[in-house]
Amino acid sequence: MSEFSIIDEFFKPLGKFGSLLHPSSADIGIGDDGAVMTCPKGMQLVIVTDTLVEGVHFPLETQPYDIAWKALAVNLSDLAAMGAQPAFYSLGLSLPQSCANEAFLSSFSKGLKGLSSIFDVPLVGGDTTKSDRLTLTVTAHGWVEPSHVLRRSNASVGDKIYVTGKIGDGALALQAVLGNYPVSGVDDLVFEKFYRPMPRVELGLELKKVANAAIDISDGLVADLSHLLDSSNVSAEIDYKRIPFSSSVEKYIGVTGDAWLPITGGDDYELCFTLSDAEATILEDKAKSGLLGVSISCIGKVIEKQEQPVVWLNRPLADKECSEPLVKGYEHF
Ligand code: ADP
Ligand code: MG
Repeated sequence: MSEFSIIDEFFKPLGKFGSLLHPSSADIGIGDDGAVMTCPKGMQLVIVTDTLVEGVHFPLETQPYDIAWKALAVNLSDLAAMGAQPAFYSLGLSLPQSCANEAFLSSFSKGLKGLSSIFDVPLVGGDTTKSDRLTLTVTAHGWVEPSHVLRRSNASVGDKIYVTGKIGDGALALQAVLGNYPVSGVDDLVFEKFYRPMPRVELGLELKKVANAAIDISDGLVADLSHLLDSSNVSAEIDYKRIPFSSSVEKYIGVTGDAWLPITGGDDYELCFTLSDAEATILEDKAKSGLLGVSISCIGKVIEKQEQPVVWLNRPLADKECSEPLVKGYEHF
């Protein structure tokens, strides 16, 4: 297949503008030298980029559909953590010859469509090249009111600290895929979450009005929470018992005695955020009425800066000898 037939057949159809989020008929998508988009009045543009490399960010046997889904999902998760409304995205794709075929590209394109249609974000451009290793770079753009931008750096002493959903499913699924833990001990839902994470976009839009600070959890709860704390120049008191785990993760901890993998492994794509007491009460009420679309759990509170970023309550015995891994997430170099 030629570069241009690939673009025409598999990427152009993903550039349809279907929504009110794209108000201008003057916008230009795939097909010219550059994309031209109209920024809604009064909004600021939020730009995020994430690269996925075969063998580093996804196991080699991952389905093309899931690779594409994840490449977009991790970017939408970053937009969510900024409080941004996703608007459109571009795709830099480096394909090995073995992937330049109908079967791979059709599944890949469907994966992009599957997620992009949920949030109505069109593909507006990109680049397609040949390389030895499948590598995808998605750049996603979103809008947010300047006064509502969610930052990592704004957590205040006394804030309550929350996470969405469950923590550790991604890390557990990876252990099972790598053959380090029996697949039979892991729920299908956990694999589903690993292969097709659902970015917490709607919650991000809710949080932009009320949260003091937010970050998305991609490298592990402890590492990403530590980034937020560092940026805000504070520490946290976290109660291990209040961290929400799925039954598969609880079983993993019971069987292996490893209480730390779930909070130091990556691939959660949940949000971690801080709220004042007053905002926490309001948001918890909304959560109880089912208005948030995702569960939220308070896992601790922001305290004055200490030597350690995190002061633990109910620290499990399994960690007696090792404190070091607690501040480490995934690092490339
Ligand atoms: P140029 O040579 O001017 O950089 P290209 O030939 O690389 O343009 O691309 C032609 C058009 O197709 C451009 O509008 C570009 O944005 C789009 N495009 C190329 N690759 C992709 C891709 N992987 N996803 C989406 N759009 C793409
Ligand atoms: Mg080009």
